[in-house]
Amino acid sequence: MTQPDVLVVGGGIIGAAVARALALDGLTVSVLDSGREAGIATQASGGMLAPLAEAHEGDPLIGIGIRGRDLCRQLAPALAEETGVDIGLWQDGVLKVAFTEEEESQARGLVAWHRQQGLNSEWITAGELLHRCSGINPEARGALLAPEDGALEPLAFLEALLVSGARRGVRLARGERAVGIEIRDRRVSGIRTESQTFPAGAIVIAAGAWSGRLEGLPRPLSVEPVRGQMLAYPWPEGEPSAIAYTGRGYVLRRGNEAIAGSTMEYVGFDAAVTPDGRDRVARTAATVYPALAHAAIQRSWAGFRPGTPDGQPIVGADPEVPNLWYATGHGRNGILLASVTGEIIAHLVRGDPSDGLEIDLAPISPNRFWNF
Ligand SMILES: Cc1cc2nc3c(=O)[nH]c(=O)nc-3n(C[C@H](O)[C@H](O)[C@H](O)COP(=O)(O)OP(=O)(O)OC[C@H]3O[C@@H](n4cnc5c(N)ncnc54)[C@H](O)[C@@H]3O)c2cc1C
Repeated sequence: MTQPDVLVVGGGIIGAAVARALALDGLTVSVLDSGREAGIATQASGGMLAPLAEAHEGDPLIGIGIRGRDLCRQLAPALAEETGVDIGLWQDGVLKVAFTEEEESQARGLVAWHRQQGLNSEWITAGELLHRCSGINPEARGALLAPEDGALEPLAFLEALLVSGARRGVRLARGERAVGIEIRDRRVSGIRTESQTFPAGAIVIAAGAWSGRLEGLPRPLSVEPVRGQMLAYPWPEGEPSAIAYTGRGYVLRRGNEAIAGSTMEYVGFDAAVTPDGRDRVARTAATVYPALAHAAIQRSWAGFRPGTPDGQPIVGADPEVPNLWYATGHGRNGILLASVTGEIIAHLVRGDPSDGLEIDLAPISPNRFWNF
């Protein structure tokens, strides 16, 4: 492989979005993707674009999340036209259903906070909720409705980004597992894989939950796997499509399936679906849609969110190695944040001033974990 301007480690949704964004800027880009790990997050994901429903009051990531969601809306038709891949964008809103007094009070508080920020969400009553989704548990007290939130199909989005990147010259080396980073004179010079060394002008670490395992990193990278278990049922017959969260999990329609998730477990790289995890997700699914209590589970799987200590991604330059970049730690929201992460990395690699982005990068800066 001839030396690319940038070598991206990891070909999940983040690596694919970053590589495409850099190639759009005219850089030569290669992606190394091992693809062999069990529990790759992009393959396991629900694919929700839910910056409002996922937020908590005062959430520093909400602006970046909304940008990510809105970029997906722009990208969906552009990618379909360019690549022929339909990313399955669903834009009819996300519900956060309240079953207890506490959940109702939290949801109403979140609606008030959204409105103070000029964002679009509303509280709908139990009657309005049942009118919208007749199969939802009638014990629900009402719901937060974020009408502009939605979802897409993560694997279709990944394929579209990879095809679009390839058309712009991105080279994907599948089956290549990066082992370590080579640093000379305080600059990265390449990546050592199991079979060879790939030279590179710059490197972006986008290896999801595995990012911190690379040898030779200038400092420890605080990314750890957070297991999420998922179940798929047949979508209840006659029930309108919806995405419904509760405090404990969610159910969303994808094709003819009801996808239910998910656990948040710190168990290392154990990608098993466990009886306990399955029970917990099944209970949540049946709480939201009682019909699912009697439905057969068609499939189950688990994946690793790349988690960080404060739950925010790590996006930006290494503080001391100027041609080493991080695009990792996207936790629960990597599908939502993929395109905006590509945009941020391309902007920073170009050397444009970060205020030109009109995004506050402090909450996602790699520097926040390291004292000098
Ligand atoms: C159960 C579950 C549900 C989720 N639901 C949502 C959701 O609804 N909405 C949302 O926005 N987000 C969701 N997420 C989070 C989202 O899926 C992740 O944040 C996102 O997929 C992370 O993408 P990534 O590219 O960083 O990592 P991954 O998708 O894990 O990709 C990492 C890639 O790096 C490769 N790799 C690893 N090590 C190496 C190496 N040494 N050398 C080369 N390649 C390597 C792997 O093979 C893999 O292809 C969910 C996650 C899970 C697990």
